[in-house]
Amino acid sequence: MKNVFWILIAVLFSCNNVQESNNADTVITSAKVYTLSWDNPSLEGIPAENAPFKDGIWQPDAEAIAIKNGLIQFVGSNEDVQNYIGENTNVIDAKNAFIVPGLIESHGHVQEIGEKAEAVNLIDLSAEEIIEAIYNRSQEIPEDEWIIGSGWDEAIFANDYPDMVELSKKVPNHPVVLNGLRGFGAMGNQLAFEKAGITNKTEATDGGEILKDNQGNLKYVLLNQAKNLLNDKVPERTFEQKSRIMMYGLDELNSLGFTTAHHAGVLGEHMKVYEDLHLKNKLPIRVHAFIAARMHNIDLVNKWIERGPTKNDTSFLQVKTFKAYYDGSLGSRGANFIEDYSDMPGHKGVSSKDYGFHEDIVKKAMDAGFQLAIHAIGDKGNRDVLDFYNNYFKENQESKELRHRIEHAQIVHPDDFKRFGELNIVASMEPGHAVEDMPWAIDRVGEERAKGGYAWRTLRKNNTTVIFNADYSGTDPSFFYGAYCAITKQKRDDDKQWFPEQAFTSEETLRAYAIWAAYASNQENLTGTIEKGKWADFTFMDIDVLNLGNTNPNQLLNGKILKTMVNGNVVFEQ
Ligand SMILES: [Zn+2]
Repeated sequence: MKNVFWILIAVLFSCNNVQESNNADTVITSAKVYTLSWDNPSLEGIPAENAPFKDGIWQPDAEAIAIKNGLIQFVGSNEDVQNYIGENTNVIDAKNAFIVPGLIESHGHVQEIGEKAEAVNLIDLSAEEIIEAIYNRSQEIPEDEWIIGSGWDEAIFANDYPDMVELSKKVPNHPVVLNGLRGFGAMGNQLAFEKAGITNKTEATDGGEILKDNQGNLKYVLLNQAKNLLNDKVPERTFEQKSRIMMYGLDELNSLGFTTAHHAGVLGEHMKVYEDLHLKNKLPIRVHAFIAARMHNIDLVNKWIERGPTKNDTSFLQVKTFKAYYDGSLGSRGANFIEDYSDMPGHKGVSSKDYGFHEDIVKKAMDAGFQLAIHAIGDKGNRDVLDFYNNYFKENQESKELRHRIEHAQIVHPDDFKRFGELNIVASMEPGHAVEDMPWAIDRVGEERAKGGYAWRTLRKNNTTVIFNADYSGTDPSFFYGAYCAITKQKRDDDKQWFPEQAFTSEETLRAYAIWAAYASNQENLTGTIEKGKWADFTFMDIDVLNLGNTNPNQLLNGKILKTMVNGNVVFEQ
């Protein structure tokens, strides 16, 4: 009898356990899910045999997902997911939204999104509009915080400046500095001048001018060198401001459907903000902070070389990568080429030491087990970086497993494509640049070299993992915009296709923002596809990217993110 009692208890207990463990925290139903759990397409982009693709049409391969403890517990049909719904399960009706693996933005500068949003843009505003814009800004931020605006045109306002006395009345409690478009002048309000200690008795510095009216009263306008009297007094942003700016960027990214951001070039001040947000559990998405291998960032560099890369993959803040800078940009003719620039004979660009590439720091970081993401734009820049990796691997074979990256890989010499695959180098590229840089990119390098430009198809054909990003804030970080550029190789509202032979299919494009980007971080077993056991990171959208990309890619630009889910939690909802 005693035995029976205990068996009964045991059975009850285990039943209870089984039920507990089967009930999901969250279940998503009525979705059109593309899991990406089938095989990679061919190197030409033809979908794999086991892809849900028939007669030229993609079919979503699941309709429901169950989530437990932040992980995917089940993927399948609406009917079968019912088994996971318990009393406390949160059921989300996706209302036929498309769900793809959580998108990964693999190269950007998060704080720049916030900085751009906070600076008041005065370009093309009239005098009244300038005052209005500053007044509006003052309503959004705490009193006493400095308002910085820029972009008023010194040439246009030369004889009739906006009325700063009026501005001082409307905005009395925030110090204001408004810098001119061409760097020849600055205006401000009364409070800013008071804080800077500028009175009607102040003498202008060399070659500068402090404007006054007929009675000798300040007009709050400073010309030429005198502008420094004010600008030098603008305090550095406080920690709270820096934190707010970073959060703005992260929130913007999650509203764009990204569940992970790779921040390419983190300085000490950024890392402090990230560590604080992480500690307080406030990071809305996963962040991979790439440490900037710059001399002015040497404290952070040394600290992490000593500490070594993040070991715990589930931490929302990952520090596993260093960002280094090998050559300049193509637009400014800084990118380094084997032959002269086509539009500047005798000039080949700058690279290596002259551009701030510190080989010793980079090697130390690699010795400490960090992945490298090295910026290279020109064909010589790319070749040198491939040589650098190759030489390092000769002594350190195991480092090759880290899937080191080249950022941009913009113009590659035909002989060097195969080396990306051979050396296991990930090409991190911007679809937006490929169309926005045209046609001046062709001016810089000529038609022939341009064929090796933004050449993601050629790279893929050479067994390279290609990942996509926007390098924001320079380019629009929207996934839909990136996908449109990658698939069409066209500018918005423009029919001209630039090197269409390099275009990706919609499937390849989605993979470059998902599973291939996960692979680039050695996390393809944790995320990048929707499969049991992986992180519950998803992006809900209102369009069928895979089919539209094939049939009507212009429509991609109208896509909307409906929901972003990270670790099983909704972090953005339309
Ligand atoms: Zn960048």
